[in-house]
Amino acid sequence: MAKVRVLMVEDDPMQAKLIQGLLERAGQGRFEMQHVLRLDEAIPRLVSHDFDAVLLDLTLPDSEGLATFERMYAAAGEIPVVVLTGVDDLTLAAKAVEEGAHDYLVKGKIDGDRLVRALHFAVKRTLAEQQEWNSQMLHLAQQQFLKAAQIMGLDANLRERLLFPQRTLVVTLPFRRDDYKQVETVFGYRVQHVLTMGPTKGGIRYHEDVSLGEVSALAMWMTWKCALMRLPFGGAKGGVRIDPTHLTGHELQRLTRRFTTEIIDMIGPDKDIPAPDMGTDERVMAWLMDTYSQQVGYTVPTVVTGKPVVLGGSLGRREATGRGLVYLIEEAANAMKMPLKGATAIVQGFGNVGSNAAKFLEEAGVKLVGVSDVTTGLYNPKGLSVSALLAYLAEHRSMMGYPDAEAVSNQQLLELPCDILAPCAMQNQITGGNAEKLQCRLLAEGANGPTTLEADEILQERGIFVLPDVLGNAGGVTVSYFEWVQGTQNYTWSLEEINSRLRKIMVDAFHRTSTLATRDRLDFRTAALIGGIERVAEAKLKRGLFP
Ligand code: GLU
Repeated sequence: MAKVRVLMVEDDPMQAKLIQGLLERAGQGRFEMQHVLRLDEAIPRLVSHDFDAVLLDLTLPDSEGLATFERMYAAAGEIPVVVLTGVDDLTLAAKAVEEGAHDYLVKGKIDGDRLVRALHFAVKRTLAEQQEWNSQMLHLAQQQFLKAAQIMGLDANLRERLLFPQRTLVVTLPFRRDDYKQVETVFGYRVQHVLTMGPTKGGIRYHEDVSLGEVSALAMWMTWKCALMRLPFGGAKGGVRIDPTHLTGHELQRLTRRFTTEIIDMIGPDKDIPAPDMGTDERVMAWLMDTYSQQVGYTVPTVVTGKPVVLGGSLGRREATGRGLVYLIEEAANAMKMPLKGATAIVQGFGNVGSNAAKFLEEAGVKLVGVSDVTTGLYNPKGLSVSALLAYLAEHRSMMGYPDAEAVSNQQLLELPCDILAPCAMQNQITGGNAEKLQCRLLAEGANGPTTLEADEILQERGIFVLPDVLGNAGGVTVSYFEWVQGTQNYTWSLEEINSRLRKIMVDAFHRTSTLATRDRLDFRTAALIGGIERVAEAKLKRGLFP
């Protein structure tokens, strides 16, 4: 998890030590603090380093009173400032808040919780005010779209229409922490990118980086993904800006129920159907479904997919993204004339997508030589066993310390030799900085947005086969579609039926993309995007414009 970087400007060493200690104890290792004594040391540091917040004493050896705040604000106005003040200087501190400081803390009365909250709140507010649309991921999704639009000669009206989502909802929602003292307020989103194709579809992500821009990028990818797979859905996505690993089950449940209530007007079985994504799972979907059902007065299983099977979830949904990815790897390997038996693979990320991809690769006879979770990467050229890794994870909760492998960082892992590299964790992993160093032959994207445009060009030049995210991870939403259809018909399918239908849809999409790529000499990502965009464009033109 990224730490909150704080610069403390305080000339009294006793105070500085006290505050540092409080933050260390109450901050649970989530803060990183630097300390300077004077304003003329602080300003250059703020300008040249990345800080998330400043703790500022107004009375310093080289500056006094409001002028201290004003000079700092003039130099780095975008960084939130929390003023440190003595009891006798309260008016001054209040004046600084009027001028733009975020808050003030009275020395001698600061406790750890108050300090942590003031800093968190300042960072949260700044993020909301300055960063909502300004997201690297949205930029990537838009650039990919514009590149594909350019190549396919997409009508300028449609280009403009599809560049931003059709509907966005931003909510703030409170939930009670288990101590029954704190009520935390967080930001949540639901975004519908295209409403033309039918109900909208897409997961809900709980992650501390979630923003309107990020959710919009993910919603846009869902549109292309559903269209490419020929599912009758437009793209959507939702999210809450929170780190769920720091919440208890009760807190997660209260958060989910309140979030559902806040977005309830936007979702529904014929409107917009959520599903799991990073940081959410079957449990969260069950609470979402229950909350929705409580509000309308009867049980509505089809409002969400990725539910537990006993509540109307589909067999095979949990494994679907990993399974679908491996179906495609089989097709790609075939096209590349690379036998899968004895080929080697590295899988980054061991959540739902990564662990299942690893399992199905192993079943296909591939040797897994590298894996990772958030804490560490593991490498063993002799091979790793998925069941041993799962057993270790069940016992230790992280891969750290796994005995039968060399520990490497997540970044190193990507650069190790293998035939198949499957990024199944986060966005923005393969960049201009490391694309040159990859040693794989096939890049199979289980995550959304793992590769930048710059990296794409390098990979293409180097002849690395890319299975792009909108195709690679589409198995999840495809079985979500099956779940929705089964729910709508009140009829369940067998696992064999689900897997064989999934395979057919994945393989067909692979071959359509491959045909387009060969015909128009395109890289696989551009071909997949064009495949999706073309269908949406056609539907939009056929429906015509209202009014
Ligand atoms: N969150 C998954 C994705 O990114 C699944 C979405 C769904 O099943 O609706 O594709």
